[in-house]
Amino acid sequence: MTYVPNHARYEHMSYRRCGKSGLKLPAISLGLWHNFGGVDVFENYRAILRTAFDAGITHFDLANNYGPPPGSAEENFGVLLKKDFAAHRDELIISSKAGHLMWPGPYGEWGSRKYLIASCDQSLKRMGLDYVDIFYSHRFDPNTPLEETMGALDSIVRQGKALYVGISSYTAENSAKAIQILKDLGTPCLIHQPKYSMFERWVEGGLMDVLEESGVGCIPFSPLAQGLLTDKYLKGIPSDSRAAKEHGFLKTSQITPETLQKIEKLNALALERGQTLAQMALAWLLKDPRITSVLIGASRVSQLKDSLKCLENQHFSAEELSKIEGILS
Ligand code: NDP
Repeated sequence: MTYVPNHARYEHMSYRRCGKSGLKLPAISLGLWHNFGGVDVFENYRAILRTAFDAGITHFDLANNYGPPPGSAEENFGVLLKKDFAAHRDELIISSKAGHLMWPGPYGEWGSRKYLIASCDQSLKRMGLDYVDIFYSHRFDPNTPLEETMGALDSIVRQGKALYVGISSYTAENSAKAIQILKDLGTPCLIHQPKYSMFERWVEGGLMDVLEESGVGCIPFSPLAQGLLTDKYLKGIPSDSRAAKEHGFLKTSQITPETLQKIEKLNALALERGQTLAQMALAWLLKDPRITSVLIGASRVSQLKDSLKCLENQHFSAEELSKIEGILS
């Protein structure tokens, strides 16, 4: 059936400025790392994308290697772009990345100019796009001059293949260097994509300050710690969960009794606030104005709907914040 997007889609989402740029992103963005690959069910991920767009989510995040198999998430997304979103390209912010292993040989990963430019071309072909809105260096390459990696991002923009560029998982120190190089090249760094959640707080040790000082946005990935920051693992490991899937990146070894104890306490606090744990975990990130958007995943429509409700309460009292610190410490 032809998809007609919700006419009221922009009424309930908030849009936050990305650093000091002219671009706004939805407070919640959707990532296609899991659940959109060749192993997944078309009608399910189609419904997730439609639900997202209907709720005002304008930003979809991909990478060359998302699947499995690698490349299939971009291919599947390309099919849906054509089928459902062709008339809405200018309402969408689509990102992709290169950095992790994508093809064999010396030019299929890391940060060389050769790899980044070839990979961007491949991503555009898979998605059937002329350009992506944001193209990222997916990880810092210790063996390639940073000038070369950032120079490749700058070229990609100048070639019209991306509108903006970003970096992902760079340390505070390397981020500062990359941001300066990009500034000198005349292609400012738009955004940084780090892993950040209640369970993963490395960005608080310097990166957030670097981003704030340089006017660069921040979009945390895995804000639910891949599903740990929900109530789903409290009664065992559901057979359809990421931890149970062979290709899932969440390993059962990460679900320790100590972690479960923390989840249990956080869940109780969330319920006191009238939220699910997923909603509280997302709101906890969004309370910081330096966070542009939280980049969530979802394996079904109901999860997306649950997570979206975090927008209804992003306020934390000092007492709640200190309880959370107590649980996490
Ligand atoms: P999350 O931490 O949001 O985890 C998403 C998973 O948690 C879902 O697939 C689902 O897993 C479970 N879940 C989500 N919502 C709920 C809910 N409301 N209730 C119960 N369970 C829920 O994010 P991801 O780890 O998926 O990462 C998000 C995006 O970040 C990726 O798609 C990608 O775009 C980006 N990313 C970037 C990286 C980088 O290096 N730059 C690395 C990793 C991710 P289940 O299958 O168990 O149902």
